[in-house]
Amino acid sequence: MKAMVLNQICKIADNPHPLQLVELPDPVPVGDEILVRVSACGVCHTELDEIEGRTPPPHLPMILGHQVVGRVEAVGERVNVFKRGDRVGVAWIYSACGTCSFCLSGNENLCSDFRATGRDAHGGYAQYMKVSQDFAYCIPENIGDLTAAPLLCAGAIGYRSLRLTGLQDGQNLGLMGFGASAHLVLKMVRHRYPAVRVFAFSRSENERAFARQLGACWAGDIFEDPSEKLDAVIDTTPVWRPVVESLKCLAPGGRLVINAIRKEDVDKESLLSLDYPTHLWMEKEIKSVANVSRRDVAEFLLLAAEMGITPEVEEFALEDANQALLELKTRKVRGAKVLRVE
Ligand SMILES: [Zn+2]
Ligand SMILES: [Zn+2]
Repeated sequence: MKAMVLNQICKIADNPHPLQLVELPDPVPVGDEILVRVSACGVCHTELDEIEGRTPPPHLPMILGHQVVGRVEAVGERVNVFKRGDRVGVAWIYSACGTCSFCLSGNENLCSDFRATGRDAHGGYAQYMKVSQDFAYCIPENIGDLTAAPLLCAGAIGYRSLRLTGLQDGQNLGLMGFGASAHLVLKMVRHRYPAVRVFAFSRSENERAFARQLGACWAGDIFEDPSEKLDAVIDTTPVWRPVVESLKCLAPGGRLVINAIRKEDVDKESLLSLDYPTHLWMEKEIKSVANVSRRDVAEFLLLAAEMGITPEVEEFALEDANQALLELKTRKVRGAKVLRVE
């Protein structure tokens, strides 16, 4: 099979072609594994964190990619949920131990044996991948392969982030950064909480215009004052200054939810501008979002199908994965980038 693999941790600025196209043997599913013939794989900011070493694969080479859509091509001898030809998705959660207190309470995203697709096990930047049937999802019929892909991470983790804000209808929500995940959160909010007012913060005028077009009541740069206090903010940016700016905008009792697996340290000194009365006083909270649980993915896929949420998608060939990653790094983002695999 064809695959785009990561052989070496590197900075994209030094090496704009971190992935290499290679020919590998097709994986063979055993036990409860299914073999998926990949048709689409979303490109996520987390791939940049893997490539640049902020959350590196434990061994290399590794096939990245954790928003995978395809059809079941073959099954292991214990598979009883899926059959050949079924359309399935694979998300960031590749496996968890299944026996710890987190797993038993449905918080398997916090399991110490959590393994991530495309980091700890081969993912979807390839023609085939294999995964346990317990960590694959049916894709609702009314969602196409390319549009389903970003729902599996950007959408599912956006859903989890929104859940963690504790937002209620009628409140004000800030979105700090407006990429693949935030634009899906905005679409979700418009359906679920019609009276919520959304304030979008982005460095890019294109993203701000996109946010207004999708229904944000206000869009400005990350340091701008939205003139109203926000009950919750979801930060999807890779850096630190937005954390400080978000805290400043929070209403008393407000909560900042940070949806980022790692932050880059380029502007870490901006944290020194934290001023207790301005940024933290009045019971403001900060919470990170760690991974996703299977419940998040399954629930969000059903919600997306029911509400007809379709992500804005920009398509690339598998061989052009490096180009998609470079554009993500340089924030040429409108909606979600997806690899079409043939
Ligand atoms: Zn992701
Ligand atoms: Zn566990």
